[in-house]
This record gives sequence, C-alpha cells and structure tokens, in this order.
Amino acid sequence: MTFSLLPESEQGAVPSLYDPARMSQRAMTAHMVQAVWRTETGWEAPEMMPYGRISLEPTASVLHYATESFEGMKVYRGYDKKLRLFRPWLNCQRLAKSNARVCLPQFDQESLLKIIASYLAIECPRWLPEPGSNLYVRPTMIGSGSALGIQRPPEALFFLFGALFPQSTGKPSPGIKLLASDPEHIRAWPGGFGSAKVGASYGPAMVAQAKARENDCSQTLWLFGSNKLVTEAGASNFFVVWRRKDSDVVELVTSSLDTDIILDGITRRSILELARARLSADSIEANMPTLTPLEVHERPFTIDEILEAHAERRLIECFVSGTAMFVAPVSTIKYADQIVAFPMTVTEDGQKTTVSKYASILKSWLEDIMYGRENHEWAYVIDEK
Ligand SMILES: *Cc1c(COP(=O)(O)O)cnc(C)c1O
Repeated sequence: MTFSLLPESEQGAVPSLYDPARMSQRAMTAHMVQAVWRTETGWEAPEMMPYGRISLEPTASVLHYATESFEGMKVYRGYDKKLRLFRPWLNCQRLAKSNARVCLPQFDQESLLKIIASYLAIECPRWLPEPGSNLYVRPTMIGSGSALGIQRPPEALFFLFGALFPQSTGKPSPGIKLLASDPEHIRAWPGGFGSAKVGASYGPAMVAQAKARENDCSQTLWLFGSNKLVTEAGASNFFVVWRRKDSDVVELVTSSLDTDIILDGITRRSILELARARLSADSIEANMPTLTPLEVHERPFTIDEILEAHAERRLIECFVSGTAMFVAPVSTIKYADQIVAFPMTVTEDGQKTTVSKYASILKSWLEDIMYGRENHEWAYVIDEK
C-alpha cells in the first residue's frame, strides 16, 4: 500500500462521542483507501489518501447496472485501549461472495484484511481514542470501467472509508417498531440476490422503508411468499423467542439461510453460536441461571406463527441484529390492522424499555468480546505500533 496522508493540522476536528454531526452520517475520518483492478493487469497496489470525491466516467458500469457490493463492519476501541475488529474474516469472505454475484473481480481475502488493518492502524489513534466507542468501516467495490453494453465490468474500484456514527448512550432501549411489508414489496426471492450484500438490494427497498416511517415505525419487517415467511428487518436479521405451542420449551428462532433470501449476518451467526453454547439446557446454569434455557432453531416461520404466539401469550421477545443496529429489541410489530406490542417496563429514571432478557444478555456477551472484556478468538487485534 502507498500512502499520501494529510498532516494532523489539516485534518478536521474529531467530533465528540455525542456530537450531533455524527447523526448526519456525513462525518468521515480524514482518509480513505482506493485500489483499481483491470481485466488485463489485475489489482494495482492500494493507496491510502485524503477522504474525498471519486471520479467516474458517465458510462461507468456501476452507474447503469448496479455493479456494486459492500461490507459494513466496525472497529472497536477496547477498555484495555486495544483496537479490535469482530470476525473480520467473515466480512472478507462475504465480500468475495457478493462480488461473485454481481460480476465484480475476486481478490485475496487475507490481503484485504491487511489493507483494512493498516488503514485503521493509522486512522484510529486520532479518530477513535475513547475506550468503549467504535468507528463504522465501509469497504466497497464498484464496476468503474466504461461498459454501456451489459457485460462484466472491465475495470473495478475498491474503496474503504471510516464513518463516525452516533454512539450508544448505554441507556435502556425503548425498542424498535417494525412495519410488516406489503405483498407488492418483495426484498429478495429464491434465485435472486438477497443473500449478497449488493447495492442493488437496497435502493428498491427504500419505498417500503419510507412507508414504515410514515407509520411511525423505523424499519420494514420483510415478509416473503404466500404464507408470509418472516425473513429480515430492514438491513438486520430478525429473531423471535417464544414458548412452543405443545410444551414449555422456549425457542430462539430465526429464518434459515437455505433459500438464499436473507443475508448471512455475522451478528446473526454469532448470536446463534453464543445461544447454543451458553443458553442451552446443559450450559445455561453456569451462565444465566435466572433464565429458562433456549432451544435454537434456524427454520422458516411465518407472521401468523408470531400472531398466534402473541394471542396465546407465548411470545417472549423479538430482536434484530446487525453491525449497524447491533442487537436491538423490538417493541412493536404492525401487520395490516394488527399490532403486536411487547411488554415494557419503566426503569428507575422513568425510561420506558422493553423486557428483553435474552437480547440483552447476548448483546452484553458480544460487547465483552468486541471491547476486550473477554479474550475470544472472534476478536482480531490491530497493532497500532
Ligand atoms: C448487513 C446486513 C445484515 C447484518 O449483517 P451483519 O453481518 O450482522 O452486519 C442483515 N441483513 C441485511 C439485509 C444486511 O444488509
């Protein structure tokens, strides 16, 4: 990698953790990385340079045919001051898979991880100083070559930048509200590309997202098919905890990956692995003795199953998971004229919050790994020298 870096005196001010500028989603760190790929010559050496505009020909493939893929990851400043990524190997793997789906070039996954780490080792001492905070990182690939005919892009551009997002205040969550999608809005379908993180999935989903907002909800709960399978929520995976109809067994259920209509979320995968390892009947006693053990299932399930469980008072909690939203409990699901409202409590300082015991223990275990309270093989420590 080559470097053309700004002196500190020319870099902008670092916004404080709760600076409203972070809400704008336009607060970036000082630098980005770019690398070009061409059919004939392959990848050129990446360059770390000042954050700024990129220049494309009007005929660039991405502008016409959505040849774009991306990743969303966070880098965490530990309570021990160390810098960590969370399972970044999986992001590299997933970007390769997404690229394959939209005819973007392959790359060496280990090299990508090294590029991300070198970039962050330079950027984070200044832009991520506070223990317990994080920076959002967006590796992106686009078909940058001129291609008016429908064909594999002859040139691609990889870029990577860091965005300063609002930080968790640590206050109890009021929960998120979800609006179930209308049958005319389908996010993904078998044989489509919903299991790839590609820009083409997100633009057309914004109409449904706007409708959710109009209905006082923050995200769309994406349903699929005539039996109204529950797939994902916004750009997060979706989980439900309920008591089974025929017994007292408590289940954690999320949509399975087999039909390729949901994204294989890294947070989702980690939640499933932690729940299986620490909240099952034979392990919960040692970890969380006050909770009923969970049986973990990845399987298709329908909105009617949620409504039925709610009517029969078997519904315990729902939550969504993803790098951006992290683990967020659901307070309300709106579906046609029906409303599922989850039980709320009021905290000591008068805050209304969901009763989401499973989500909150899983979230705190993940945070322990991300911020270095627990030493775990999922953490990748970046050496800042
Ligand atoms: C990114 C994303 C997720 C969450 O994936 P993580 O790896 O957990 O961040 C879930 N669903 C969709 C549609 C996404 O784009």
